[in-house]
Amino acid sequence: MTGSINLLGATGSIGKQTMDVCRKYPQIRINTLAAKSDYIGLASAAKEFSAKKVSIYDKDRYIALKEALSGTDIKVLCGEEGLCECAADEDAECTVNAVVGASGLTPTIAAIRAHRRIALANKETLVAGGSLVMTLARDNGVDIIPIDSEHSAVFQCLQGISGDVRSQVKSLILTASGGPFFGKTLAELKDVTPADALRHPNWTMGSKITIDSATMMTKGFELIEACHLFDMTPDKVDITVHRQSIIHSAIVTADNAVIAQMGVPDMTVPIQYALTFPERYPSSAAPLSLRQIGSLTFEQADESTFSCLKAARRAADIPQTTAGAVINGANEVLVHLFLEGKIGFTDIQDGVNEALNNISLMHSFSLENILKADKAAREFAYERSGVR
Ligand code: NDP
Ligand code: MG
Repeated sequence: MTGSINLLGATGSIGKQTMDVCRKYPQIRINTLAAKSDYIGLASAAKEFSAKKVSIYDKDRYIALKEALSGTDIKVLCGEEGLCECAADEDAECTVNAVVGASGLTPTIAAIRAHRRIALANKETLVAGGSLVMTLARDNGVDIIPIDSEHSAVFQCLQGISGDVRSQVKSLILTASGGPFFGKTLAELKDVTPADALRHPNWTMGSKITIDSATMMTKGFELIEACHLFDMTPDKVDITVHRQSIIHSAIVTADNAVIAQMGVPDMTVPIQYALTFPERYPSSAAPLSLRQIGSLTFEQADESTFSCLKAARRAADIPQTTAGAVINGANEVLVHLFLEGKIGFTDIQDGVNEALNNISLMHSFSLENILKADKAAREFAYERSGVR
């Protein structure tokens, strides 16, 4: 079991569930904590877990956080520097990255450079910077343990394989819930409101990933994430819609055996596994009763209606370029504008595809190129939407 963690994105959905796991297993100490603007949640977590350091990204919340922690000896930091300092703090064995968005990339890199093991929820890290991050992790001997449920499922299934994984695993099956709009036509999607899109059938998550699930961008991102984490080409990753979210994903081995990981949809399972790996401990998640579920269904994902999937597949086909950073940067802005009521639902997928068609790509082994591509994509998305 991990002895102590740095927890980035502590005040969000994954961050709070990580703290639940730490409450259940107090031997997992929380060393540092970071968030963006919720200084109240951050201060209360820092006191509860007696953290050594905290960092708030928004600099204008720094004084408020410092006041909230006055009388304690908790060190208070801010900005990207503070986030990276918390990520890299060497008094923790493992850094849990549960930040949302591309802001998760630089702290992941800082933690890898400090040789911390990574428990990764922040999928945007691998979408925007997968080639760079995986190369750095390999060079520094750092393990990246996935928290994202599908990738945790694949990771769990792979524990049964010894020896050369590449020759023994033919392909992966990534399951997708299909989100709230599965089966809708393009015309029906045009009138979708933020309130409709925020109603996910199976999972309660932060607002950005909930919209990503509705557009199916999240599955596209997960395709890219899977290719990087498991060294697979996109043609070997099959996306299958499975509405019940019971099978979290599967691997197909050379002998055509299919090994799947199942359970009720509850993120504390992959979070806890990332922290107790390779051991298993009792969990607060409900047990699965297959008899109660009755039947499981599997369907084809509709890539022409949900064209974020198409954009992600195109980006996954050119993995060592900034294509991932482009679709991610454009998507972040477009989701934000949609949630603010400034653009329509299908503008998200149209904008993501247009960004990929229009922005010139570079090699993605340098952080500088990735950040340039991210910036260009964000500007493109704002301009396309007529918002500044
Ligand atoms: P939330 O929106 O609920 O939480 C995001 C967290 O990140 C908050 O703590 C937020 O702080 C913090 N944050 C955002 N920007 C920064 C920044 N620049 N610096 C420091 N902290 C920052 O998101 P989720 O927990 O739902 O998702 C987190 C990540 O995990 C995403 O990448 C998502 O795709 C992935 N994921 C989530 C799943 C889920 O079930 N929720 C499942 C699988 C993957 P503040 O509260 O102050 O804004
Ligand atoms: Mg997932």
